Amino acid sequence: MTTFTMTIDGNAVAGHATFDVTNPATGAVFAEAPDCGRQELDAAMVSAQAAFSDWRDDLERRRQVMHACADALAVGAEDLARVATLEQGMPLSNARRSVQRAADSFRRYAGLDLPRSIAQDDDEALVEVVRRPIGVIAAIKPWNVPISMAVNTVAPAFRAGCTVVLKPSPFTPLATLRLGEILREVVPAGTLNVVSGGNDLGQWMTEHPIPRGVSFTGSIATGRRVNVSAAADLKRVLLELGGNDAAIVLDDMDPADVADRLFWRAFFNSGQICMAVKRLYVPASMYRAVVDALATKARAARVGDGLDVDTELGPLNNRPQFERVAGLVDGAVRSGARVAAGGRALDGAGYFYEPTILSDAAEGMPIVDEEQFGPVLPVLSYTSLDDAVSRANDTMFGLGASVWSSDPERAAAVAERLEAGTVWINTHGVLGHAQPFAGTKWSGLGAENGIWSVHAFTEPRTVYHAR
Ligand code: NAD
Repeated sequence: MTTFTMTIDGNAVAGHATFDVTNPATGAVFAEAPDCGRQELDAAMVSAQAAFSDWRDDLERRRQVMHACADALAVGAEDLARVATLEQGMPLSNARRSVQRAADSFRRYAGLDLPRSIAQDDDEALVEVVRRPIGVIAAIKPWNVPISMAVNTVAPAFRAGCTVVLKPSPFTPLATLRLGEILREVVPAGTLNVVSGGNDLGQWMTEHPIPRGVSFTGSIATGRRVNVSAAADLKRVLLELGGNDAAIVLDDMDPADVADRLFWRAFFNSGQICMAVKRLYVPASMYRAVVDALATKARAARVGDGLDVDTELGPLNNRPQFERVAGLVDGAVRSGARVAAGGRALDGAGYFYEPTILSDAAEGMPIVDEEQFGPVLPVLSYTSLDDAVSRANDTMFGLGASVWSSDPERAAAVAERLEAGTVWINTHGVLGHAQPFAGTKWSGLGAENGIWSVHAFTEPRTVYHAR
């Protein structure tokens, strides 16, 4: 069994105990991860604190280090991608892309400008505003795309001048541990510490006196706990939480075309994406045609082990999530939804579930009202567009939404009315470096991505020169 170590103060640390990691494609334990105790967490925090001031004060060094991180990731890419597939289940090609994006991200943030601004320059005063890093960041991450989630915090935190203590999900600790092993060769000791363990470890991180900021990505329920815990010490929080994104198809679309373009926006990574399409609203006049076209796509999607080159959809990541998705589908069917494709687990080992299209779905069914986070798309019918918009908005989720139409003005008018941090037109879930990514309502607190992440890890400092 390959061993994976934590990274604390630049060193490999085995942990006082270990926990099992399961390959979701086989359902079998294939590796062990170190379980971080309180003393080891203290050591990581103290190390991040000690590294902070030199790191904060040397932007040029940070830029060099970030390019070195990108280079190191390129060298370690294949090994890292395989580890991500083994523990997460995603197709290897997707894992490779996520390593590539992580390397690109380090380079982009290294090149990002954060200029000093002048707020006033007159006879009375020169007032300058600079952004200063907030300190040590506790980064707590989910299991759906481990490498991207980790680097989404580490790269902008480095650009800001912060140091990081990073904890992956206990379901997917290994790729993040391996990331730490790769990067500790090129980053100054203490600037990136990687620890692994269970949910208690996350709680200890948010309660720890050293971090000044918490960067959390995960479920709404945990995000709430993180926010409460961080509030006691007035830590800054960046919360990227769950979504239940609605997509609304307008009646000017071709059913086969919209199904073709939309399918992977719901099913990529087996639906385990915060900003996947999770509810689809279709005009009654074309409802059957869209459902049939989506069902055809679902039946054609190749489900299998992520290491198999033909695989398009891997398994669900873990047993609780697999059981939750199966339970949501069964519950919807009991309440009157119909299975147009899929609707059952695959026989054999592993957490495989058939890509599923549910027709006759309606609000009030948990598969519609909650975040399924799996390879299932409920399709809802509407007769009035106003009604579709108000149903799409009638939720405390507010991550993303999309409108699909061949008429750009009509689409833009509907987009304007949707309550979500990002509204896409004729696509869904696309996130470029120049876009802020922020959930409204319960889907998050604060914005991330690009300059917005750097702002989240810095605060303004004003220098007032009296004249
Ligand atoms: P989760 O909330 O169960 O766990 C996330 C992390 O929090 C894990 O590392 C876990 O160990 C840790 N944790 C658990 N309890 C904690 C506590 N009390 N204090 C501190 N940390 C604690 O989420 P998950 O099931 O791993 O991930 C799936 C969720 O993540 C989905 O809701 C998905 O939408 C969301 N997500 C959101 C985004 C986004 O950017 N908005 C991106 C990816 C995933």
